[in-house]
Amino acid sequence: MEEVSKTVEKKSKNFIELKVEEDLAAGKNGKRVQTRFPPEPNGYLHIGHAKAIAIDFGIAQQYGGVCNLRMDDTNPQKEDTEYVEAIKKDIEWLGFKWGDILYASDYFQQLWDLAVALIKQGKAYVDEQSAEQIAAQKGTPTQAGIESPYRNRPIEESLRLFEEMNSGNIEPGRMVLRAKIDMASDNMHFRDPIMYRVLNIPHWRTGNKWNAYPMYDYTHGQCDYWEGVTHSICTLEFVPHRPLYDLFVDWAKQVAGDDQPLDDNRPRQYEFNKLNLTHILLSKRNLLVLVKEGIVNGWDDPRMPTICGYRRRGYSPEGILSFIDKIGYTTFDALNQMSLFESAVRDDLNKRALRVSAVVDPVKLVITNFPEGEVEVYDAVNNPENEADGTHQIEFSRELWIEREDFMEDAPKKFFRLGPGKEVRLKNSYIIRCPEENCCKKDENGNIVEIYAELIPDTKTGQANSDMKIKGKTIHWVSCNHCLEAEVRNYDRLWNVENPRDAVANYSKENGDIRGIDAMRPFLNPHSLEIKKAYVEKWCATRKTLDYLQFQRIGYYTVDYDSTPEHLVFNRTVTLKDSK
Ligand code: ATP
Ligand code: MG
Repeated sequence: MEEVSKTVEKKSKNFIELKVEEDLAAGKNGKRVQTRFPPEPNGYLHIGHAKAIAIDFGIAQQYGGVCNLRMDDTNPQKEDTEYVEAIKKDIEWLGFKWGDILYASDYFQQLWDLAVALIKQGKAYVDEQSAEQIAAQKGTPTQAGIESPYRNRPIEESLRLFEEMNSGNIEPGRMVLRAKIDMASDNMHFRDPIMYRVLNIPHWRTGNKWNAYPMYDYTHGQCDYWEGVTHSICTLEFVPHRPLYDLFVDWAKQVAGDDQPLDDNRPRQYEFNKLNLTHILLSKRNLLVLVKEGIVNGWDDPRMPTICGYRRRGYSPEGILSFIDKIGYTTFDALNQMSLFESAVRDDLNKRALRVSAVVDPVKLVITNFPEGEVEVYDAVNNPENEADGTHQIEFSRELWIEREDFMEDAPKKFFRLGPGKEVRLKNSYIIRCPEENCCKKDENGNIVEIYAELIPDTKTGQANSDMKIKGKTIHWVSCNHCLEAEVRNYDRLWNVENPRDAVANYSKENGDIRGIDAMRPFLNPHSLEIKKAYVEKWCATRKTLDYLQFQRIGYYTVDYDSTPEHLVFNRTVTLKDSK
């Protein structure tokens, strides 16, 4: 019995949780767990980052540790405080709390001092070759690289030139600091990787103090180590970087004269598969192109795969995280279906969205036996999935708006909505019947402008004939005199191919390496936004920005930031069913 429950429990844990548990059981890192989420503040977070956030913060929460937020700000030319603020907001919205907010730039002095110590130990040197020369000497995985002519220059010279690199007098690209490791290593990252380059750009935090800036590989591991990170969780492309990550940490420990056993106290890098989804293109660099070119209306455009885009579109944090949980963490790359994400979001919204009536393609229905000027008021259930959400009032009168597609003049037998002689139930109200003859009025072009029906008395819920059997369905409606006009924004996929990343890359290759928007344009869906006029029940005007709504029979919607009492605006989050 016990065996069984053990395997069941094990199955539900992902490989990172298992590794952390192993480390804890082995007493590593003093049985502590500390993680970090390390975004580069060069754009807004996207759904891929949600996967990283969920594991970085999740592991810390689960094992009684802390997760710090560390801005990986080593590329001053692309970074901005706007992004820092947006990143913080999105993490909080997802429901996570960091310990400290730290910045890679907090460590610039420490990293510099370490680099100087490494030069003194003969472990780093200034290379005055161009980037092209250095690249040409790199070799291939099967062929050793060529050592730089500057590799064995005197230590004093490298020390002097390293200072120069930071003086502001050296133009970018003139020289770099490289680690002296092994130009014949099987691991390309060991072939004297670049530690520092000259940028001569002020940094938004450190101002003009630095002109030479550390590279990611030289920065990340040391920051982890100095901060006390125990588990440095990242994505699979960093697997080949791991030995270098470990080596730099070893060097940092040696320089610091730290003689604790390395293996038990180092930060451990574990890698999982990146989130890849059909029909979206991730990577902040690409998303920035869409924003700059005006393809979308900003980072939070509801068509964007950003956290703020999904928020504005009406996705809940719980919906997003339940999807992340479903796809899990593995060590091989995959392409997940967008439909899986949408179905997780539907399941989530089904539990929380308040049901309202909205008619998005309206045609008038006149209840001919209901007196003009009279009004009935009903209690409509807000959420059949949660009684505590209560009810709200809706009005019924002689003239209603219904969906145009709920009526057919030459209705086939299997059409279970309105047509000559057909019966349906009006949601929350009566059963109605269209006459066999003269059931609608048309304009001079033959368009139906009015539909006629009679209500069948005593067929409301709780009344004598309420359980009258009919073939027709229940349709939604709003009362013409008690509804409001609204703008409805229906979003479709931004990309018309399943795998935009590959499509864009291939197209670029086939067309002389074109970049940016030119490589993207052929794959963008020109109909990704449809704006419609709809009629919504009055109560919708009382809903707040980003409230979760279901337009019954139509889809899930939310109140957009642009919505005002005078001009209501709703975004379609997702349709009720997968139509693709
Ligand atoms: P982008 O290319 O979108 O800018 P990035 O990897 O450069 O992504 P960072 O800000 O450097 O973005 O990433 C912060 C963290 O988020 C890193 O640990 C990174 O591995 C992780 N991350 C980025 N994209 C994904 C993704 N698609 N799936 C899972 N994790 C991701
Ligand atoms: Mg990046």
